[in-house]
Amino acid sequence: MTTTNSPRLRWRVLVRTDGKLDPSRPSHPLSWHLATCVDPEGALAHCAEGQRLRAANDDPDGHCLLDGQCPRCGPSSS
Ligand SMILES: [Zn+2]
Ligand SMILES: [Zn+2]
Repeated sequence: MTTTNSPRLRWRVLVRTDGKLDPSRPSHPLSWHLATCVDPEGALAHCAEGQRLRAANDDPDGHCLLDGQCPRCGPSSS
């Protein structure tokens, strides 16, 4: 039995329950963030891809910056 010590990304999903469901937006009001996301509502807490996804459908899909880097995109290696 081997236990890999790789850190697993922890997720949290936010459900927008503002009290009003807008029927004109059929997309499910879920947005995925890392559990370490410091500011789910703030664009600066997400990488460029996350900000693009947020603008598109309010779901950054876990592209939350962690120590200034997005663990989803990984370190940018040119
Ligand atoms: Zn986030
Ligand atoms: Zn990213």
